[in-house]
Amino acid sequence: MDFGMSWEQKIFQRTVREYCEKNVTPISRDIDEEKFEKRIPDEILKGLADIGVFGCTIPEEYGGSAQPGEEIQYANIAIQEISRTEMSMSLPVYMLLTIGWGGEFLRIYAKEEVKREILPKLASGEWFWGINVTEPGAGSDVAATTTAATRQGNKFVLNGEKAYISGVDESQVRGGGHCTLVATGTPKTKAGKSMLAIIPNQLNGMTSSVYKDMGRMGLSTGGFVYEGSEVPEKYLLGEEGKGFYICMEGFNVARAVVAAACLGGTQGCLEMAVDYVKQRTAFGRPIGNNQGISFEIAEDWCRLESARLMLQKGCWMIDKYYSEPGSVTQREINPIIAFNKWWAPLIGADISQHAMMYHGAFGYTKDCPLQMAHRGVLSYVVGAEGTPNIMKLIIARDIFDLRG
Ligand SMILES: Cc1cc2nc3c(=O)[nH]c(=O)nc-3n(C[C@H](O)[C@H](O)[C@H](O)COP(=O)(O)OP(=O)(O)OC[C@H]3O[C@@H](n4cnc5c(N)ncnc54)[C@H](O)[C@@H]3O)c2cc1C
Repeated sequence: MDFGMSWEQKIFQRTVREYCEKNVTPISRDIDEEKFEKRIPDEILKGLADIGVFGCTIPEEYGGSAQPGEEIQYANIAIQEISRTEMSMSLPVYMLLTIGWGGEFLRIYAKEEVKREILPKLASGEWFWGINVTEPGAGSDVAATTTAATRQGNKFVLNGEKAYISGVDESQVRGGGHCTLVATGTPKTKAGKSMLAIIPNQLNGMTSSVYKDMGRMGLSTGGFVYEGSEVPEKYLLGEEGKGFYICMEGFNVARAVVAAACLGGTQGCLEMAVDYVKQRTAFGRPIGNNQGISFEIAEDWCRLESARLMLQKGCWMIDKYYSEPGSVTQREINPIIAFNKWWAPLIGADISQHAMMYHGAFGYTKDCPLQMAHRGVLSYVVGAEGTPNIMKLIIARDIFDLRG
């Protein structure tokens, strides 16, 4: 048992921290206020690629710099550092989707030809990659997906609609795409689903729209409509009919890095809170000298630290699952990752609100960065990558199955 980071992981963490403090902190408010042409400046994505963040789940032969068997542990380190400085969560979410559903998922499930086409563009920070599951009539109930992919010779023809998808614009403006869950068999069954890698800029018959979110303003959320859109067969991920199951596997990876984003942002809020309560005085002494405040901060620190440990365990389990087949099962991973995805956004929303309250009236202004963090983390409380109730459903199912 080892709770520490390796020397290489510590160097990586320090490199990402130094890069983000110097380059990301100064522009995080501008990202949230949508001041850049493509929401996130190109040079930031290039800079993060140069220090190996985009490549941390991609093997060297495809342009990445993955440490085999430690991919998600490295992703966890990077995403926590990025969201500590970009608390609106736009850049961290852009990164975690591209690293998770792009680098990690495509590395495991894409055909060789497709890996060679896509992975180098992800490792260099040129392309965005995301996940395209939710539909107007199918959110938590993933098996109810109806977007149809009908086989015609060596291609699939798509008809249907996807909704609330992160990176709808980015996948077109920058290039890239989404792992997309489609119905290829009996409707409303798990066995009737398949996953396709879809690159919107190569697609006919597709239109898209963008919604007005309340947070994460530096990353678009929107919908796609497909009308006879043709996708070559080579873009099938894994086996036909296994899409539901590999999608659930992908969710475990994505939920781990989502938790990392929430914990990094929360760390940033807690650091701001501590700095402020030490210097703000009321009734002749620093407000942090009141136990009403210092005890709450102590409790919040404990919640954050325990969440971080649990996440480290989850990431380690995922890495073991892929690098040492048979050592860990998805069933063992499910409740640990569900716990992380439920808990990290929840304490993030709580702790960012506490920090806002210590700042008094200033905490309610847009000049104070805490509101960005609060709005950003709420996207994961509401349910991006799975709602709190669905996470509890996974945990409860596991407890009852194992013990009842
Ligand atoms: C900012 C943002 C970005 C997103 N990005 C993406 C993306 O990139 N790709 C993608 O595919 N999707 C994305 N989503 C969609 C997200 O995955 C869905 O919102 C989520 O899965 C919930 O689906 P729904 O909104 O249809 O809610 P519903 O499934 O309709 O659920 C509504 C409520 O009912 C509860 N509920 C449902 N079933 C049960 C049950 N059995 N027991 C108890 N309670 C239940 C839920 O917990 C929730 O509170 C995003 C969402 C947001 C907010």
